Amino acid sequence: MAALTPFSSLDFPGHLAAIVHLQGCPLACPYCHSPHLQPPGPGALSPRDITGFLASRRGLLDGIVFSGGEPCAQAGLADALAACRAQGYATALHSAGTYPRALARLLPLLDWIGLDWKAPLDDTTPTTGRAGLGPRFALALHAVLEAGIAHEIRTTWHPTLLPPAAMLAMAGQLARMRAGSWVIQPYWRPAHLKAPPLREAAFPPALLAQIRAILPNTALRQ
Ligand code: SF4
Repeated sequence: MAALTPFSSLDFPGHLAAIVHLQGCPLACPYCHSPHLQPPGPGALSPRDITGFLASRRGLLDGIVFSGGEPCAQAGLADALAACRAQGYATALHSAGTYPRALARLLPLLDWIGLDWKAPLDDTTPTTGRAGLGPRFALALHAVLEAGIAHEIRTTWHPTLLPPAAMLAMAGQLARMRAGSWVIQPYWRPAHLKAPPLREAAFPPALLAQIRAILPNTALRQ
C-alpha cells in the first residue's frame, strides 16, 4: 500500500470514505494522475497501518475505497476487503478492468465499483499505452453488469486520445453490452503533475448529443 487519503466524500457515492492507494499498474495512460504508482514496489503502509487507522475512525467514516495504480494487481486485496467489512466498513474499488478474472473474484466483497471504460475495444493503445486489451475490458464490464453490484462506468476523455469516432464506438459497445449509464469526465491536469503535455479541453456538446442518442443515460462530469 502506497498511501492513504484519510477522507473523501467524492470517491464512493453515498459514503464518507478513506482511500487506500495501491501501487502497481501495467498500463501507461498518458493522462495518469498517479504515475508514481505505476511501478510495483514495497509499500509505505502495512495492512496493520490500515486496520489501525480504520479502528480509529469508527463513527467518522463508513466506507473504504481501494484505488490505484490497479488494485486488482494485488494478491492480498480480497483479504483486505474482508478485513474492512469485518470492521463494519462498506467497500469500494476503482479499477481499469485490466485483470478481469481477479476482478470477478473480488466483486462479492464490494458494495460499489468505479470501472474505467478506457477505449474502443479494438484500439486500446492511445489511452492505455497497451494494445490488445479490449477482450479484458469487455470481460470486466460483463462481470460487473452480471454481478448486479452498484457501479459507475466512466471514461477520462481527451480529444487527441479519443476523437469523436472512438467515443461513438465506445458508446455503441456499452449499449450492446447493456450498460445502463456512462460518465464522461474530461481530462484535467492536476497541479502536482508537471510532465503530461496534454491540454485541457471542453467536451463538444454536439458529440454529447450524438452519444446520448446511442446511450441516453450518459452524463458529463465537469
Ligand atoms: S490505469 Fe489508472 S493508474 Fe494505471 S496508468 Fe492508467 S490512469 Fe494510471
